[in-house]
Amino acid sequence: MTNGCISGGERYFHINANGDVEPRVFAHFAMDNIEDKSLAEVLNSPLFRKIRNMRPYCLNPNRPCMLIDVPQVSREAFCMPGVYPTHPGAGTLFTELSPAMDEYAEEYGKVADKAWAEHPMRPVRKIEVQLRRKKVKMAVSGD
Ligand code: SF4
Repeated sequence: MTNGCISGGERYFHINANGDVEPRVFAHFAMDNIEDKSLAEVLNSPLFRKIRNMRPYCLNPNRPCMLIDVPQVSREAFCMPGVYPTHPGAGTLFTELSPAMDEYAEEYGKVADKAWAEHPMRPVRKIEVQLRRKKVKMAVSGD
């Protein structure tokens, strides 16, 4: 229904109590603080632009999430120079929690891809066009 991830200012973002502007409420990373920059500048930051430009992250719209479905996307975005964790420990997503995230994504991906193959819906055509245009590497095996 949303044609992929809505974070990074695509249709949504989050400002925490310290003013850090996060791509979404459960992505505890930021490049800017609202005390230092205008919202327009923050929405045009390299981090937010990267998150928007990389979407859709997967051909299967049942796997839209950069955090849990295609974790390599969030790694690439949040490991950019200038990005900082907005609370202690947030970075463990990309260190000790990384193998579990990958394993979860792979296992869920098998289920989601099977379900999608059996019950595809029309929006995938739109996503396919976007993927071709942006030359995003498809994450669905076999495509
Ligand atoms: S797809 Fe994932 S990162 Fe994007 S808005 Fe939904 S839950 Fe958040």
